[in-house]
Amino acid sequence: MSKTILIDTSRCTACRGCQIACKEWHELPANKTYQVGWGSHQNPQDLNPNNYKLVRFNEHLDNGTIRWNFFPDQCRHCEIAACKETGDMYIEEAIIQDEKTGAVVFTAKTKGFNKDQFDEIKEACPYNIPRRDEKTGLLSKCTMCNDRIHNGMPPACVKVCPTGTMLFGEREEMLKLAKSRLTQLKKKWPEAQLVDPDSVNVIYLLIDKPENYHEFAAVESNLGPMSKKQLFATLARPFKAMKG
Ligand code: SF4
Ligand code: SF4
Ligand code: SF4
Repeated sequence: MSKTILIDTSRCTACRGCQIACKEWHELPANKTYQVGWGSHQNPQDLNPNNYKLVRFNEHLDNGTIRWNFFPDQCRHCEIAACKETGDMYIEEAIIQDEKTGAVVFTAKTKGFNKDQFDEIKEACPYNIPRRDEKTGLLSKCTMCNDRIHNGMPPACVKVCPTGTMLFGEREEMLKLAKSRLTQLKKKWPEAQLVDPDSVNVIYLLIDKPENYHEFAAVESNLGPMSKKQLFATLARPFKAMKG
């Protein structure tokens, strides 16, 4: 049974404690950032090799009322990980999935992927998560803090969240909690929904349409490309092995 993170966005205040905790635990350096000129308090503007976690800000009009949605974005640790399926075609075990936790982890071997192979891996991910360090070639993303989990600790971002937005535990337990919270939130927010709960181990609970958080918040908005990429990865694998 894998581990799961539940992210109840209805409780998120965009304090960014999770974003900072992630950088601290993984000893990721600061980025040079700016806010002037692009009309958002979100910072930095996108995930990058130094930010495995990014609290995304979305401001939009809803029937004349301004709504401000916050989305703490990270890898979903998919049950069937398209990044791994694609990566395995070129370098076995560069991307691994921990059987005990379900965490999908990019190893140091990912430095061996060339730029075109990285582009394929990135495009295969329906949530637009993988990033590449241009200097070292290393691919990076959230690790689910797999090292902490194996030492009996929750992920760093979950540990510091002060509002109860982020919760962590056994998959069955988190799914049960997610469904119960969804029932509560539906009463006030009819659009409330769980994002792709059957296929990921980082489950988002939204109270607005996915596109009102982030372009890649849910698979539904990317179903075409994802299906094609996954199909390609699955079909191409035996041919690559034969050529091999
Ligand atoms: Fe891989 Fe993307 Fe799924 Fe993360 S979200 S496991 S990077 S396919
Ligand atoms: Fe960062 Fe760990 Fe949270 Fe992933 S689980 S976003 S690596 S702190
Ligand atoms: Fe939201 Fe919690 Fe992250 Fe703060 S620490 S931004 S409340 S998820």
